[in-house]
Amino acid sequence: MPLAQTRVVVLAGGVGGSKFTLGVRAALRKVGAPEATVVVNTGDDLWLAGVRLQPDVDSITYALAGVNDTVRGWGRAGDTERVNEELQAWGGGWPWFTLGDLDLGTHLARTGWLRDGATPTQVLARMAERWPLGARLLPMTDSEVDTHVLLEDGGRLHFQEWWTRHRAALVPRAFENPGIAEAVPAPGVVDAIAGADVVLVAPSNPVVSIGPILGVRGIREALQRTEATVVGVSPIIGGRVVRGMADVCLTAIGVETSAAAVARHYGARSDGGILDAWLLAEEDADAAPEVTAAGIRAVVAPLWMTDVDASAAIAAAALRA
Ligand code: GDP
Ligand code: CA
Repeated sequence: MPLAQTRVVVLAGGVGGSKFTLGVRAALRKVGAPEATVVVNTGDDLWLAGVRLQPDVDSITYALAGVNDTVRGWGRAGDTERVNEELQAWGGGWPWFTLGDLDLGTHLARTGWLRDGATPTQVLARMAERWPLGARLLPMTDSEVDTHVLLEDGGRLHFQEWWTRHRAALVPRAFENPGIAEAVPAPGVVDAIAGADVVLVAPSNPVVSIGPILGVRGIREALQRTEATVVGVSPIIGGRVVRGMADVCLTAIGVETSAAAVARHYGARSDGGILDAWLLAEEDADAAPEVTAAGIRAVVAPLWMTDVDASAAIAAAALRA
């Protein structure tokens, strides 16, 4: 299969997902291949102050549009917080969850269209018309799915409260996705996976970004059935998460924070899992035999997504795998 004709699907969460997607876009452009389809996690979407937030969808949209805040790592570049101050003065929203003014414009537009009857897939397609994104974005599902954190002390929090307010410092016992049992894949998701030559699992949080995508009935099955090669990229480098608190999530579900353990968690397609190949960081090269023993082809590569060129090199290595 010449690289120029490769049909690529990416499964992605927010920050790690958007850096990787930028790399995939650059790598595909370089060889003149068609735009990738990106299936985005919507498991941590929420209603706040009457508007619908889609953190991972927005991270990827803003990054592809080139309007994201690369310093903070989330939201719009050059955003202000005037509306947020007023919202807080009313006692609305969450005091520890900042909504930027430009960002609120996105949420208002989205909420208006949803209220008019558009599906999340249709809303995303409409939002993608504003900027040339160079990729087709699909939500994992049109259903509303939540992520709750069950705590050791018996409490239950919305994922965003646990993550943003408590910085994942309260010990989790488990994660639940209310609504996922009834969710079906968004239109186009299963067809894209079935028609792909390569499916790339971004180096996103395996528990709360990739986990919900795989939890939507039919997506895991589509990955197991497709003739595409399914290649994952490790979000763990040198036994640590690069950024964020994904290690706390992994520990809660009984998975060690190591590149090999995450590969085993996804599992080999030959063994009921989803992976044919796994990209490991050079720092984790000695874990390659463990990955191979699990029935997954191990490919060692530099995995730091320091800039678009570095991410594009990772994407190219994944495509070659
Ligand atoms: P979120 O939805 O915003 O939390 O973002 P994602 O789930 O898409 O990505 C979070 C994951 O990205 C974390 O677990 C990090 O370990 C991983 N990550 C961030 N930067 C890098 C990087 O440069 N290289 C690799 N391999 N992983 C990264
Ligand atoms: Ca997320």
